[in-house]
Amino acid sequence: MAQNNNLRSKSKQKTNNNKSKYIFDLDLTLYSENDYKDSDNQDEYYSSFKPKYLLGDLLKLIKGDKFILTNANIPHAKDVLAKLRLQNIFKDIIASDIAGDEYKPDPSIYHIANHEFKIRNNDTVFFFEDSLDNIIAGKKFYNWKGVLIDPDRKKKPKHADYLFNTIEDAIIFFIAKEKFD
Ligand SMILES: [Mg+2]
Repeated sequence: MAQNNNLRSKSKQKTNNNKSKYIFDLDLTLYSENDYKDSDNQDEYYSSFKPKYLLGDLLKLIKGDKFILTNANIPHAKDVLAKLRLQNIFKDIIASDIAGDEYKPDPSIYHIANHEFKIRNNDTVFFFEDSLDNIIAGKKFYNWKGVLIDPDRKKKPKHADYLFNTIEDAIIFFIAKEKFD
């Protein structure tokens, strides 16, 4: 019995030191092809985004810090997040224009994000992406756990840790995971 208690307190300590952090790609990860209309006309394009109220409510239920890591630029990221009504959820954004025009899956932008987001060695990072190549790079450079968002895939590819068809399904899973881990 005494031994049991001892084990329990050890695993609790481990949980307290080990923070989960969540990094999200923006385009076609936080919204899908159904949430906007592709157009060469900028006004038409930006005004076509639909608010993602359910996603916003779900994201707020995740306690760990949340960040954006996008190959787009900061003005695009801010515009789209505002249109999606997700603008107050993320602690920081790294985009290609502030990363010296570096793009995922090249290493520099991952190094910048890891530094700016103050990721520590014992943090567990979950990286949400629609691009498997970007997930593979995050795993290679920093052992980020890859959460692939793909509406069409039925089977998780080897290089992703998780597969969900929608971002909402993914977030519901991680809310539960935080509660019960
Ligand atoms: Mg994307």
